[in-house]
Amino acid sequence: MLNDIEIAKNAKMEKIIKIAENINIKGEYIHQCGNHIAKISHHYLKELHHKKNGKLILVTAINPTPAGEGKTTTSIGLSMAINKLGKKSIVTLREPSLGPVMGVKGGAAGGGYAQVLPMEDINLHFTGDIHAVTTAHNLVSAVIDAHIKYGNELDIDPTRIYWKRAMDMNDRALREIVIALGGHSNGAPREDGFIITAASEIMAVLCLAEDIPDLKRRLQNIVVARTRKGKPVTIGDLKIEGALAAVLKNALDPNLVQTIENTPALIHGGPFANIAHGTNSLIATKMALKLSDYVVTESGFGADLGAEKFLDFVSPTAGFKPDAIVLVATIRALKYNGGTKDFNEENIDALRNGIANLRVHIENLQKFGIPIVVALNKFDTDTDAEINYVVDFVENMNVPISINEAYYKGSEGALDLAEKVIKATEIKSELNTIYNWHDPLEVKIMKLAKEIYRAKHVDYEMAARSKMKFLKKYGYDHLPVIVAKTQYSISDNPKKLGAPSNYNFTIRDFELSAGAGFIVALAGEIMRMPGLPKHSNAEKIDVDAKGNITGLF
Ligand code: ADP
Ligand code: MG
Repeated sequence: MLNDIEIAKNAKMEKIIKIAENINIKGEYIHQCGNHIAKISHHYLKELHHKKNGKLILVTAINPTPAGEGKTTTSIGLSMAINKLGKKSIVTLREPSLGPVMGVKGGAAGGGYAQVLPMEDINLHFTGDIHAVTTAHNLVSAVIDAHIKYGNELDIDPTRIYWKRAMDMNDRALREIVIALGGHSNGAPREDGFIITAASEIMAVLCLAEDIPDLKRRLQNIVVARTRKGKPVTIGDLKIEGALAAVLKNALDPNLVQTIENTPALIHGGPFANIAHGTNSLIATKMALKLSDYVVTESGFGADLGAEKFLDFVSPTAGFKPDAIVLVATIRALKYNGGTKDFNEENIDALRNGIANLRVHIENLQKFGIPIVVALNKFDTDTDAEINYVVDFVENMNVPISINEAYYKGSEGALDLAEKVIKATEIKSELNTIYNWHDPLEVKIMKLAKEIYRAKHVDYEMAARSKMKFLKKYGYDHLPVIVAKTQYSISDNPKKLGAPSNYNFTIRDFELSAGAGFIVALAGEIMRMPGLPKHSNAEKIDVDAKGNITGLF
């Protein structure tokens, strides 16, 4: 089989204007960026207000191996297959971050015969949205330091500035730094650091904002520091929400591209699924719901992170809910959960141990009340005996399962999945959230710990207790909770694979994302600035004299 970039190069792209016309986007709202990418003005949403929403399909996964289990690939393949069945479907995805593209994981434009195009542009700078977020983010830092240098009227406590600087690269050397060295004219030295742009609260805010006024309101509410007396200092206090919104104006418009089979894809925004909510912009999803019958959207990491946040936070915020959930599983991740890292040999014993992970995710998702379909993303190392074992297991739980071969065959490989998913969306369902936003903070966390992470008790470390007091004192405790924890386990410990239960779940600290509208509960160490490996993808990527890029995947 050809590699991803070769398959992408052999595909014949349509002009983006044609793709836009096929879904009836009015010309005045289309801003073309070359022949194959367009920004669609978010103002168009207002005009579509009267139109009925299509069905929403959420793609999530079991706890993965470090390589990823194919949520993006499945989302793209499924959307292409629904189009193949003669219904209109749009896939909505997050924008890839450059850090992982250059690091280990690679791009995030799907794989094999289920990709979005032009994959080189999507994986590299695309339409500059992420750069806009970086610039807006660093404007806040620059204003904070200038404010302190010129008298510090707000009385910002330099030891309690929560706002670090941001960059879209994996650069561990910048995690902890000292800034403003060099004497009086550079300000007073203080500790600082960098996070990767996808971890910026501005990225989360961009993806949740409805329009420019809502963007400004959310930016204004972001808490960047505390005063020496302990009061929160917001971006509103710094009076720069207008400038930030101006920097972000074009980034608020979703990006239209196409799949390898020329079906429409909206790719917009890219917040993390641990310290943020992990899904593409609400504007893109809402627009897609107005423009097609079936919207397929992906949430980050496993169902314990991305899907839980989509259902408990994103859906109530947006005022929509999924009509079906696709739970992606792979034989290799099930074996990994069963304690082996050798995925090439048939190993039913490892599968038998690891399948508990799939069971837990099915049970967890059933609590939300939305119909589920399991998509077994087939790899060429899977044996028939292994596949049959998983199919029997899932069917015994009375849950539909389909073998997805979109990676190898494009839409043809996901037709059965598409039929099963469409059928699932026809079942009437109501969303039951795991907790109420107005539950006391400890209750929200206890409900998540018991119902989703299967813990018996929640411990709070000192820092968490003291931050909890701050959140309560300033009235932030009514916000929903985004738990930041490992993606490799349903628990807070990446080594507890399979289906851990009856353990203590530990909250180390809290962070406030008041602009995005949530509290982040930190369970374990969360990496906000990844590093590069010894040999990174950067050593493989190249461009020839004609501008042809190789080595991306
Ligand atoms: P996720 O969105 O869950 O992180 P991706 O869809 O990005 O996962 O897939 C992760 C990687 O695995 C990508 O490089 C993709 O090309 C590859 N991949 C996905 N499905 C398959 C498959 N069925 N066979 C081989 N490789 C696959
Ligand atoms: Mg993905």
